[in-house]
Amino acid sequence: MTAHPTDAVLAADQQLQPPLYAKRGIALVRGEGVWLWDSEGRRYLDLMSNYGVNILGHAHPRVTAAIVEQAGRLLNCHQSFANDTRAAFLEQLLAIAPAGLRRVFLSNSGTEAVEAALKFAWAVTGRRKIVAARRGYHGRTLGALAATAEKKYRDPFIGLLAEAEHVPFGDRDALAAAVDTATAAVILEPIQGEGGIFPAPPGYLAAAREITRQAGALLIFDEVQTGFRTGAWFACQHDGVSPDLLCLAKGLANGVPIGATLMTEEIASCLPSGVHGSTFGGNPLACAAGLATLQTLHDEGWIAHSADIGAYFLEQLQQLRHPLVRAVRGRGLMIGVELKLRATPVLRAMQESGVLALPATTTTLRFLPPLLLTREQVDMAVDVFAHALDVAQD
Ligand SMILES: *Cc1c(COP(=O)(O)O)cnc(C)c1O
Repeated sequence: MTAHPTDAVLAADQQLQPPLYAKRGIALVRGEGVWLWDSEGRRYLDLMSNYGVNILGHAHPRVTAAIVEQAGRLLNCHQSFANDTRAAFLEQLLAIAPAGLRRVFLSNSGTEAVEAALKFAWAVTGRRKIVAARRGYHGRTLGALAATAEKKYRDPFIGLLAEAEHVPFGDRDALAAAVDTATAAVILEPIQGEGGIFPAPPGYLAAAREITRQAGALLIFDEVQTGFRTGAWFACQHDGVSPDLLCLAKGLANGVPIGATLMTEEIASCLPSGVHGSTFGGNPLACAAGLATLQTLHDEGWIAHSADIGAYFLEQLQQLRHPLVRAVRGRGLMIGVELKLRATPVLRAMQESGVLALPATTTTLRFLPPLLLTREQVDMAVDVFAHALDVAQD
């Protein structure tokens, strides 16, 4: 398939970029549905979907057709011009949005969706302080990084970051104590992803809604990872709580870069022209992919399927009762397994057996599969996982 032999591909990947990523040692060259193939022709069951991006799997025919059609017509269209595909996508996205969210700012990644939400909160409230959660992850640009908790990511840039206070996730009293009339916004993931798959305890999101309302602060839900994969369109809908600003990215266009910041009419009306923008944001190619993704999720019932298959997956993992498993957590197809050992050797053994998953912190193994997963594939994955634990134990 590829013009380069595998060794040359792996070498270029390692040697022509700064060493920022822990490499998995294979080159992926093709995908179809829940399957991926490497440059040696080996097949893998994809339970990571590129950190949750390929929500409908790889080379989905409806998404591919939409991309091809749009690429042959108009790739780019600056936001100073209207566009038919963008209009259709915005209508579709707002039709499924949590109550009260009426306008969308489009960008190109998760961190940009968060960056926009924070800038809007600062601009609209005139306040400075951000309150975020420990273990929270919101991205790597400087605004989003201020909200991100992990010291490893923050420490090299500490003097450059906006004012943020990190409170224990799930603790209403700590949140109430941190939020005051200097607080511009509280930003939370309804289920913490990178931090190890921690769902918000019942009532916590509603409490955050009430606490921010009372202080005149805005509530931002970062659903960059949870969007479309927890058995609802958005994880906050399980709790019936709507934020003032909602950040989306990963699964939204099935792999084409996109970010979206949804907001209330009230926030939109307070944003002066020119206060924020993006050259590529809202380009018709990404909008075409996003529209096809949302339509396919809707028409083919994948959200309901993900609730069923996710519950089955969680149950099978819990029933393993493996001595090396400390806890199994998650909702829908966003599942974490906290281990009593490091996740890396287990991930390596699974990869060797043809199943790709992810870490979330050093000891939690994370599954973010495409929603297309079947029960047979879950059974295969759980068998491979159990075997990998036994191998890692030896
Ligand atoms: C991945 C992620 C981001 C950052 O998205 P990028 O596209 O990598 O910039 C932000 N928030 C959450 C919750 C994420 O999972």
